[in-house]
Amino acid sequence: MNSSPRQEPDIPLAEKLFDELRRRTADGPGVTRESYGAGEQAAHDLVAETGRTLGLEVETDHVGNTYVTLPGRERFAPKIIVGSHMDSVPQGGNFDGAAGVVSGLAALSGLLRTGVTPARDISVMAVRAEEGCWFPETWLGSRMALGNLPADIFDQLRRIDTGLTLAEHMADCGFDPQTVREGAPCLDPAKIACFLEVHIEQGPVLAAEGFPIGIVQAIMGGPRYRDARILGTYAHAGGAPRMYRHDTVAALGQFITEVNAFWKELERDGRHTVFTFGTVATDPALHSFSRVPGEVRFCLDARGCDDASVRSIRETVASLARTVEQQHGVSFAFGLDSGPAVLPMDEGLKDLLAVIAERRGVPFKKMSSGAGHDAGAFIECGVPTAMLFIRNENGSHNPNEAMDLSDFAEATRVLTDFLVEYR
Ligand SMILES: [Zn+2]
Repeated sequence: MNSSPRQEPDIPLAEKLFDELRRRTADGPGVTRESYGAGEQAAHDLVAETGRTLGLEVETDHVGNTYVTLPGRERFAPKIIVGSHMDSVPQGGNFDGAAGVVSGLAALSGLLRTGVTPARDISVMAVRAEEGCWFPETWLGSRMALGNLPADIFDQLRRIDTGLTLAEHMADCGFDPQTVREGAPCLDPAKIACFLEVHIEQGPVLAAEGFPIGIVQAIMGGPRYRDARILGTYAHAGGAPRMYRHDTVAALGQFITEVNAFWKELERDGRHTVFTFGTVATDPALHSFSRVPGEVRFCLDARGCDDASVRSIRETVASLARTVEQQHGVSFAFGLDSGPAVLPMDEGLKDLLAVIAERRGVPFKKMSSGAGHDAGAFIECGVPTAMLFIRNENGSHNPNEAMDLSDFAEATRVLTDFLVEYR
C-alpha cells in the first residue's frame, strides 16, 4: 500500500463536466434527464465524448449503459466498475447520480496523468434509468445489465409521461430490448471484482454533523405496507359513547404514537431506523363530520440497516397493532409486505476506504443509505460493493441540492487511491 499517495484526480475536468451537464440538460430551475429520453441521452453522450477525448475505451451495452474503461495490466482479470446513474427526476438537481460518474472520470483522468496503469481494468459505468419516477421501477439500467429482471417487464412498464413501454423507449433510443427479453445479460458478476458508487447524500446528516464524506455500511431494508387498513365500525358521532366505538382513526392515532415511541427506543439503543406513514386516508364517499370512521387506510414504510433491526421492526409493529386492536375493538389488515431486504456493503471494501480516508485526512462518517441505489443491484448479484456519500445540502430530487466541489474532490481522492490500491 502506498504510504504517500501521488495520484490526484482531475478536479478541473469534473468542474467542466458538471457545468456542461447543467448546460445541456437545464430545465427551469433544475435539470431534466428523463430515463431513455433526450436529457439522459445528452448526459451519456457527454460521458462518451469525455472518454474518447481522454483516449480511453468507450462502449455502450445493448440496454444503453455507457462504459469508459482504463485498461489494466491484467486485461482478463475481473474488473473494477465505478458507476452511478445519469437520469434525474423532472427538474431535479445536477449532482444526484451524475456526481458518481463524474467522480469516476476525474479519477481515471488523474491516473492517466500520473501514468499509473492499474492492476486490472477500471470501467466507469454511466447507468440508465435508475430513478423510479419515469418508469414505476428502480435500478432498471443496472438490473437489465446484470440480467436480473423478469422478461415480461419490458412490455409492461410504461413511462409515466409518454405512456410508451420500456421496450419502445429503448428501441427509440437505438437499443435492443429483444436481447434483454431473451435474458442475455451484459455483465457477468463473476467478471466484476467490485462495484463502487459515489453519490451525494440525500439527507441532512453529513452537513449537520460536519463530515465531508460518508462510508455507506448498508442500503436499508424493511417492511413496506403500501395498502394497510384498519377496520372498525361506522357510527353516529353523537350517539356512540367511547366504550361502544370501533373508531379506526383513533386507533391509527394511537398506533402511530406507539410506533414513534418504539422508534425513539431503537434510536436510544443506537439502531438507526426510519418510519414513515406516507399516506393516511378515510374514504371520502363514506366519511363525514358527524360520523365515527369505520375504516382508515394508511401506508407504512419502515427501514433498518441490519437484519436484526428489521426483524425487531416487523415483530414490534405486529405486536403494537395487536394491542391497539384490543383497546379499540378494531382489526388491522396490513396487506402485502413489499419491503426489500437490507443490502450490506462489502466489509473489505469499506475497510479499505476507511484506511484511505484516514491516511488522506478526510473525516468520514460510517452511515447507512436510506435510499436505494444502483449499488443495490450489484449486491443482489453477489458483487462485492461499496458506496461513498458526499456531503450535500438541501436533500436531492430538487434543483437546490448543493454539493461543494471541495467535498466532491475529497471523495474523488479517496476513490482514486482505492482504484490504485485495490487488490
Ligand atoms: Zn441517485
